[in-house]
Amino acid sequence: MSDTERACVICGAELPRYPASRKTCSADCRARLNYMRWRANRHAAAERKREARLAQGGRLCVECGKPLPPDANVQAKICSDACRRQRTLRLTHERGERQAERARAERAERALRTVRVKITDLRTGEVRWEDRPLIPYNASPGQEYAKRRERLLEQERRNAAAINAVLGPGEE
Ligand SMILES: [Zn+2]
Ligand SMILES: [Zn+2]
Repeated sequence: MSDTERACVICGAELPRYPASRKTCSADCRARLNYMRWRANRHAAAERKREARLAQGGRLCVECGKPLPPDANVQAKICSDACRRQRTLRLTHERGERQAERARAERAERALRTVRVKITDLRTGEVRWEDRPLIPYNASPGQEYAKRRERLLEQERRNAAAINAVLGPGEE
C-alpha cells in the first residue's frame, strides 16, 4: 500500500481517498470504532475523577472517619454496610433523644407559664384547683400586650430596613 492509499483503522481494508475524514470501511467497523472511543472516554473520565479525589486528599466515611475505598462512587459517603447499619441505628437513637428533649423543654415551659391556683367558691365554699397563666408581678396583661406589640412593630421596621438595603425603596 502506498502512502496515498488509506486503510480502515479497524480491519485494515482499503479505503477510498475521499472523504478524508472517513476512518472505517463499513458499518460494522464504524460501530466497533465508536465502541472503542466510548470505552476510552469512559476510562479517561474515571481516571480524572480518581485523580481529583486523590488531589482532595481522599474522602472519609461520615460514620467511622476512615478513608473511603478509592473506587467508591462519587456520591458515596459511607465505607461499608456495617457503617451504614451503624449510622441508621445512631440516627434513630438521636432522633428519639431529640424528641424526648423537646418534650422535657415543653413541660418545663408550661410549668413556667402557668401557676396552679386554689379557687374557693364564695357561695358554696367548694374548693378547686386551676392552672392560670403566670403574669409577671410588675406588669399588667395590658402592659404585656403593648410591649409585645411594640416588639413586633420594631421587628417589622428592621425587616423593612433590611429589604430596603438589598432592593432599594419600593415603588410608590
Ligand atoms: Zn474495516
Ligand atoms: Zn465507615
